Amino acid sequence: MSYIRTFGEVGIADVPLVGGKNASLGEMYRHIHDRDIRVPNGFAVTADGYRHFLRASGIDTALATVFADLDIDDRENLAERADRARKLLLGASLPEDLTEEILAGYRALRQEYGDDVALAVRSSATAEDLPDASFAGQHETYLHVQGEEALLDAVRRCFASIFTDRAVDYRARHGYDQLSVALSVGVMKMVRSDLACSGVSFTLDTESGFRDVVFVTGSYGLGENVVQGLVEPDEFYVHKPTYAAGHRAVLSRRLGSKAVRMVLGESEPVRNEPTPPAERDRFCLTDEEVLELAGAAMTIERHYGKPMDIEWAKDGTDGLLYVVQARPETVAATRRPTVTTRYVVDAHGDLITSGRAVGAKVGAGRARIVRSMGEDVGFTSGDVLVASSTSPDWEPLMKIASAVVTEHGGRTCHAAIVARELGIPAVVGTGDATSTIIDGEEVTVSCAEGDEGHVYRGLADFHANDVATALTSRPRTHVMLNLGNPGIAFESSFLPNDGVGLARMEFILAEHVRVHPLAALHPDRITDPSQRAEVERLVGDDGAAYVVEKLAEGIGSIAAAFHPKPVVVRLSDFKTNEYATLLGGADFEPAEANPMLGFRGAARYAHPAYTEGFALECAALRRVREEIGLENVIVMLPFVRRLDEADRVLARMAELGLRRGDHGLKVYAMCEIPSNVILVDEFAERFDGFSIGSNDLTQLTLGVDRDSELVAFDYDERDLAVQRMITLAVEGCRRHGMHSGICGQAPSDHPEVVRFLVGLGIDAISVTPDSILAVTQTVLAAEG
Ligand code: PEP
Ligand code: MG
Repeated sequence: MSYIRTFGEVGIADVPLVGGKNASLGEMYRHIHDRDIRVPNGFAVTADGYRHFLRASGIDTALATVFADLDIDDRENLAERADRARKLLLGASLPEDLTEEILAGYRALRQEYGDDVALAVRSSATAEDLPDASFAGQHETYLHVQGEEALLDAVRRCFASIFTDRAVDYRARHGYDQLSVALSVGVMKMVRSDLACSGVSFTLDTESGFRDVVFVTGSYGLGENVVQGLVEPDEFYVHKPTYAAGHRAVLSRRLGSKAVRMVLGESEPVRNEPTPPAERDRFCLTDEEVLELAGAAMTIERHYGKPMDIEWAKDGTDGLLYVVQARPETVAATRRPTVTTRYVVDAHGDLITSGRAVGAKVGAGRARIVRSMGEDVGFTSGDVLVASSTSPDWEPLMKIASAVVTEHGGRTCHAAIVARELGIPAVVGTGDATSTIIDGEEVTVSCAEGDEGHVYRGLADFHANDVATALTSRPRTHVMLNLGNPGIAFESSFLPNDGVGLARMEFILAEHVRVHPLAALHPDRITDPSQRAEVERLVGDDGAAYVVEKLAEGIGSIAAAFHPKPVVVRLSDFKTNEYATLLGGADFEPAEANPMLGFRGAARYAHPAYTEGFALECAALRRVREEIGLENVIVMLPFVRRLDEADRVLARMAELGLRRGDHGLKVYAMCEIPSNVILVDEFAERFDGFSIGSNDLTQLTLGVDRDSELVAFDYDERDLAVQRMITLAVEGCRRHGMHSGICGQAPSDHPEVVRFLVGLGIDAISVTPDSILAVTQTVLAAEG
């Protein structure tokens, strides 16, 4: 009887014989290897091999004696029994026939990969007796194994790892027989990621459950750091539908700090060392490599027919990427919510620290800084767990915590995965939580404000609304979202919607780019030394490339989230006072007495003072539409005062490669100045659509400053004069067959405005995410 199977001989049906990991590697070796990516070859020592070992050496009967008086309520008893069991296995030699077969498998790998091939030897559990997530990494893995003796020893050690204290305890508690479980061992070519990088890809966004992207994470060195959350990895997204249509562009990237990397040790098997600063400052993968991994992930997902979680590694000796593990993703994939609970923070104390938000909830309680799991800090239910990072043995604490804050780790680290499973908010990768949060103080952990999570001093005021997202019918009038924060785009796509009616570019600039476009181009003109240093650090040596890339990522994330529905992206409409608050912005924006009526909107675009910045905005839009392939993006101009201004801007856009009609490009304008309404017939010749900006239109029709508290009593979008304006605009659009929409705040706040708009026969109403459900219901009722 043969006790080994090569990867070419096994597939997913062979779990009982070769365990989950080996079965999945075999499946991929047979079906994926050399199609989009490589899978290292190897072989499995089967569960029968394990049983044969036990029988041939007489360990099976000895084990029965060891466990005969196992008492799981007595820690010492359990530890002693488990230790004896392990020693039995470690002390015995493998039977000769099994040894021969393992060495024959080794010879075959040496033939394929060269005599000095290094091996990874890892256990592969054969039964459902161990829950996957919390036991991941519990069984041993031996890396860089070379030589026959070392290989046999590693196999035996893997076998013995079936009797770790934890595994014995788990089995006893859940009624599994210690003797009938068996283990398979995988022996494969080791991918030398200790000399390069490694990570995990997911065929969905793990945060929101959004299915149309591949999410790739990676860091330098062996993969354990990313899986365990000991480093904040680099992160990348690739949009599946545009990739499938032939586009090859990364949707967005986020540089992780990658503080340490795991390499092979001299005295110990592996060790972490600081990552050299130059490597931390750059991405561990090129865009081409990210795309190769994404392509492979999509093939693997197609092969298995479900969302997958895939470990990958890059070999530093041959420079190639390999897939080393794949399993179905079960947490995020099941989260296609029909009801979402939206948390809103109403008031909060001082900000203590920030990191990546996990989930969208808010939690509050007494902060307890826990430095190691053994430490007894009197952690009680409802406390906020603050730690450097967490690992599987921390779960008992996480289960009773109201929130988790860590210093290290990215969105797929252990703390993040477990927090998501438990449904508690977590802020990970803060860098400083254990020194800035005071042990014992009350804190609020907020993940309700987008991508970034915040920890505030004291107990904040917050509330939660249940939002049912399943609606049986769609209204005729399109109901769209106003959404400018790329960080909440994926999750917002689950709300019932007909696309995005307004994505304000200035929000994307503030959220995602952070630097004033002109400051990025001319950091030498920034007078404040600390701002200049910060801008130079962020933009590197090519300010234009930085702005275009960041802006394209922000726009692209929103466009991808709602693809193929339309996403109307409005070119920037900061007022000078607001632009000045961007990093480095103060030196590029004049001080104006009336910014609302000043150097804003379309007036800036063809003006010498902003023309360079406008070119960057257009370049980003082109990248999103043409390179990434998100042609669902419609471009919108804000605050177009005069016809010749419209003509000049449209001509400038055409020069910059954004010509209305080319590649199906539609250009809309905001209808928010009385001149837009009065000249609707002339504007209709120039644009594909009009979106009513009721905020500015009210301000300018009634002559009332929309920012002034003093005259707020006169600011009312329901005023007859404003209604008349809106009526003229919608009727004008209809006359010319031009799209009519509205994206000001009025319909989000006032149901009577919604009914009025439906009565006018407007094409689209765009509202804020928190109101879209109620607005949709009002529209449905009004349509009758
Ligand atoms: C508006 O004026 O109604 C509008 C949507 O634009 P903003 O609020 O950005 O000026
Ligand atoms: Mg406006």
